[in-house]
Amino acid sequence: MISYDEAIATVLTNVQALTPVELPLIKARGLVLASPAIARWDMPSWDNSAMDGFAFAALSIESRTTLKIAGQSFAGHPFSGHLKSGEAVRITTGAPIPDGADSVVPVEETSEKDNSVSLNRPVMKGQHVRYRGEEFHKNEELLTSGTQLYAGGISLLSSAGIDQVNVIPRPRVAIFSTGDELVELGQKLGSGQIVNSNLQYLIARLEECGCIPVPLGVGEDRCDDLNRLFDQAQEADLLLTTGGVSVGEKDLVQQTLLQRGLEKKFWKVAIKPGKPVLFGLLEGKPCFGLPGNPAATAATFELFVRPALQQLVGNSNLLAPRLKVKLAESVRAGGKRQNFLWGELRITDGCLEILPLQRQGSGQNRSMQKAQALLPVPIDSPSLNAGDDVEVILLRLPQGEKTF
Ligand code: AMP
Ligand code: MG
Repeated sequence: MISYDEAIATVLTNVQALTPVELPLIKARGLVLASPAIARWDMPSWDNSAMDGFAFAALSIESRTTLKIAGQSFAGHPFSGHLKSGEAVRITTGAPIPDGADSVVPVEETSEKDNSVSLNRPVMKGQHVRYRGEEFHKNEELLTSGTQLYAGGISLLSSAGIDQVNVIPRPRVAIFSTGDELVELGQKLGSGQIVNSNLQYLIARLEECGCIPVPLGVGEDRCDDLNRLFDQAQEADLLLTTGGVSVGEKDLVQQTLLQRGLEKKFWKVAIKPGKPVLFGLLEGKPCFGLPGNPAATAATFELFVRPALQQLVGNSNLLAPRLKVKLAESVRAGGKRQNFLWGELRITDGCLEILPLQRQGSGQNRSMQKAQALLPVPIDSPSLNAGDDVEVILLRLPQGEKTF
């Protein structure tokens, strides 16, 4: 059986980024730029005031401290005239510095009387002016290809007039679960039947990861029914199934896929949970058969599918962050497979610690509910003690430490 490290390397060498598309900027949150973003104009586009106050020429206050108010330059309503020596213009933050002015005094440092303004403090030429092009210049590369867009990047590009971006699109991920015992949530359960919770989990998790889930429902444990669903999955960029990949008599996913021409890359990895995970390429597209036990589906999603999705969306950081944290409770020695324990992260005195969760059975949904990290326990590792430094795979950040 191959190790996790070999298996994940195999996944990542067999998945390529999707073809870029043009999208409106606001639709591109979380996506990766496939071309550099180039500024359409200087920013600021004109010298403007950083304060509410008065604009004037520094030269004109060498011989006086009181200036005549000649007009106003408000944000969105510039002053159209030319300032003469001895004059000031009332100005608001962001408004253009009028012709003839070069400095701004904040309103708090002035007194006003009879349409004149007196400056109460010495000023420096150029103070409180934001200069044209100070932030960026026209044709400047603001973000490089490969940058992931967050709200901050969207703000920056929109200020530069970039309303369309060339990005790697959100992957469409076809998912179906297999198993004669499965019933969709909301439908009545018959004898021996359970809810198809894996499909709900994967829809939610794919959305959390910025993908478009294409749920196809449940396949019965028959090759013809599995074929029906694989036929429907052809438009997707990646294909996920759950269940039916182990060695049971009714585990028919692998057989069906091989008959359809799956280029199998691996089946079975020395991990716990999730040993029977299957990976290959179906018509060149990545295809994962995840084991059906809920905690195994969830763990193999994080360990294999999530990095493959990162590769599909052109992200260069493929693996989840690994962090050194303190272990809150002891952990049993490792066995013949690399164990991945679900853990809750806690912030204690500003430092992170991991609490391995109870009920880690692969058939249980409970452990994933609280989990914020996976704790890898190497093959044949000695037992670990509370207080040990361990490395964990971060899935999500914990909440803040304080409540009010
Ligand atoms: P399998 O991988 O098909 O052998 O299934 C292993 C275990 O996971 C069995 O107990 C199944 O009933 C359960 N299981 C399989 N698929 C799902 C699913 N979609 N939702 C919840 N449990 C499942
Ligand atoms: Mg099954």
